[in-house]
Amino acid sequence: MTIKQILFIIILFITLGVFSWTVYRLIRFFQFTKAGFPVKNISRRIGLTLEVAFGQTKIFRNPIAGFFHALVFWGFIIITIGSLEMVFDGVAGTERLFSFSGIVYDVIIGTGDVFAVIILIAIVFFLIRRIFLSIPRFRGKEMEKKSKWDAIIALLFILFLMVSLLGMNAAYVSLHPGGYQGVFPISSAVADWFSGWQPASLHVMHEASWWTHILVIFLFANVLPYSKHFHVFMSVPNVFLSRLEPLGYIRNMQEITKEVKLMMNPDTAFDEPIEADDATEPVRFGARDVDDLIWKHYFDSLACTECGRCTAVCPANITGKKLSPRKIMMNTRARMKEKGPGLLKDPNFDDGKSLLRDYITEEEIWACTMCNACAQECPININQPSIILELRRYLVMEEAAAPAELNTMFTNIENNGAPGNILRKTG
Ligand code: SF4
Ligand code: SF4
Repeated sequence: MTIKQILFIIILFITLGVFSWTVYRLIRFFQFTKAGFPVKNISRRIGLTLEVAFGQTKIFRNPIAGFFHALVFWGFIIITIGSLEMVFDGVAGTERLFSFSGIVYDVIIGTGDVFAVIILIAIVFFLIRRIFLSIPRFRGKEMEKKSKWDAIIALLFILFLMVSLLGMNAAYVSLHPGGYQGVFPISSAVADWFSGWQPASLHVMHEASWWTHILVIFLFANVLPYSKHFHVFMSVPNVFLSRLEPLGYIRNMQEITKEVKLMMNPDTAFDEPIEADDATEPVRFGARDVDDLIWKHYFDSLACTECGRCTAVCPANITGKKLSPRKIMMNTRARMKEKGPGLLKDPNFDDGKSLLRDYITEEEIWACTMCNACAQECPININQPSIILELRRYLVMEEAAAPAELNTMFTNIENNGAPGNILRKTG
């Protein structure tokens, strides 16, 4: 075993160890969320994932930025196969281990080589947009400076990845003028620039590019979970776990359904129990804090890319209200990050704060029209209004703290069976 192999294996173990620990820290908070989102209809979910996640269909609503984003996504899938080969090469001490697959290898490596340049161009475009242009959806009170730098740092990581990949490929082609494994439409042209270089210099360039590329991948993978770019890992599973009901569909609360049925027809007391999505007894109606939400809400919050497409179409936000659906998702994630560690130590942990009011105000949630434009627009099928609905349910059913207009309507429904004051009008 060479020193390079030993060094690589040590770095690989550290990378995998740190990444696993970070992901474990995030996923253990799921134990504090509620059930209530059964994952059924797998074939439909696979179709949706192919269409929305791999087809990037929602991204194309913004034709130019969407097109570049889709190219980066598709390119990354191809290039990841090459990165996997580098990991195997690093462990086994081989070079171009997957080349035994012949034509398949040529197609994958050739496509990846072309995508490296396309991604490079796309990243420069994204950097110019982020740094020099004032795009309204990148602004907002929830977008701190950290969010902007998060995005810029991630883009720079990708830039380094593509430059080192092209450098590595060009040096590899130059080192094997008599024949090399794979096809390199771009790098073979770049290799001409180094035609006068000595083999020793080319070898140094190849090793430097190889190590830079793989180390940036390892570093990037461990930075991602701390940034909005965690969506690189989360977005595809999140689309797979999309809500399948039509937008605007409101799930009944089983306990309330039971009570209403009993009121309407006492004989239903002897009916078979209602098969609830969530078999657990509700501790409280709706949600006051993050641990009252279902696991899918927390999953959504981890997957949110902070792209702001939801806020950009929100009629409440557009008309100057405080509501921003992106902020709802960011607040949910931040609150779990704050409360989760305390809950791990003590299941009854209470820091005197809550998602409602300390993070999301009543003014924000009552500004929502439940139009679902945000959920329609979200490229990874997050359903933001469902969190707002749970917070409202808590206010109405636990605190009777609905706005006065709604309380009048509730009273009318209770007394008249209709939202309007029918008796006074007709009496
Ligand atoms: S459902 Fe609510 S949060 Fe979403 S776009 Fe409509 S008003 Fe905005
Ligand atoms: S909820 Fe969806 S649309 Fe809104 S910021 Fe997050 S990823 Fe973007």
